[in-house]
Amino acid sequence: METANAEKQRMQKNDENLAKAIRREALRLGIASIGFSPLRPQEKAIARISGMIAEKRHGEMNWLETGMAERADPELLLPGIKTVISVALSYNLPEYHASATDGARISRYALINDYHRVVRNKLEELLTFIGTIYDKPVQAVIAVDGSPVLEKAWAENAGIGRTGKNTLLSTPASGSYVFLGELLIDLEILEPSHELPNRCGACSICIDTCPTGALMEPGKLDARRCISYLTTELKQEFTPEESRMVGNWIFGCDLCQESCPSNQSRKQAPPGLFTLKQELLGLTPEQILNLTGSGFRRLFSGTPIYRIGLRRLKRNAKAVMENLSAGSSANAPKAQNTGSTTSPGSPINLHS
Ligand code: SF4
Ligand code: SF4
Repeated sequence: METANAEKQRMQKNDENLAKAIRREALRLGIASIGFSPLRPQEKAIARISGMIAEKRHGEMNWLETGMAERADPELLLPGIKTVISVALSYNLPEYHASATDGARISRYALINDYHRVVRNKLEELLTFIGTIYDKPVQAVIAVDGSPVLEKAWAENAGIGRTGKNTLLSTPASGSYVFLGELLIDLEILEPSHELPNRCGACSICIDTCPTGALMEPGKLDARRCISYLTTELKQEFTPEESRMVGNWIFGCDLCQESCPSNQSRKQAPPGLFTLKQELLGLTPEQILNLTGSGFRRLFSGTPIYRIGLRRLKRNAKAVMENLSAGSSANAPKAQNTGSTTSPGSPINLHS
């Protein structure tokens, strides 16, 4: 019996060393945070998405309604899955701090090369490395953004961050200016992980800062009032109220991140991972409204903005131009808060 226990401990130690080796490689690849989580039920996260859908707070994001079975059971994505590896890549670039905040604005994550490809490439490189250190074939699925994976819940379980009252995952090293990705893998990776404490405490700055009342209560988002949803997800034309709500945001919205104390003095993204497209800084609504199809492709190809197409970008620019000329960017109508019970953690991260 003692021998069996000693063997088990040796194997476990070996697995921990492998986890450390994966960590070191992730760091070398420029990944800001990495953690490992064994499979476990995610009832709370599933309940949050179901609540959002039932209350229709997800708006036009019908993709949230599909893939619920896969979110609840990652075995459907990868039979034999044992571990979810969560990673966070920082996109906190120093140049952002120089950008003006009173003119037309574009969210930070959209001013750089499209994160989908960057995160996927990093996860592919990590998977290749894992394949070289394990002496058996490895089955894995890479998940980035739109995949039906509960990315924030797994990241919390893996101990790489906590979801704040603004519904975004915040990491100790890089704050919430991170892109998340997952590697679902059929290897048991044993490494003690601890969920981090919630850092919000009595703070409610993000809720007070949100100009539209989209943060109804701590961790509860009404996407239909969120500028990020309106400018990046909504396909139809704006109603007059929606048009006013977007204020000076042409694409996305960073207000509940910029105001968060957890995002002050965070580590910057490693050089070379993301590159700021300088020509997008200071772009005016008028310039966007004058764009042709080829001009749009030249400016936005390879950025997250390209995905919404020129028609919707012009819709956003027209609303911003009208708001700026009316001086109403700071006067978007706020929703009434419901005052109902706390429901922490939105299932989606609209800002990344
Ligand atoms: S992204 Fe903007 S509109 Fe949406 S919740 Fe945050 S502050 Fe409010
Ligand atoms: S602003 Fe305050 S309440 Fe909101 S996420 Fe940051 S720490 Fe939490």
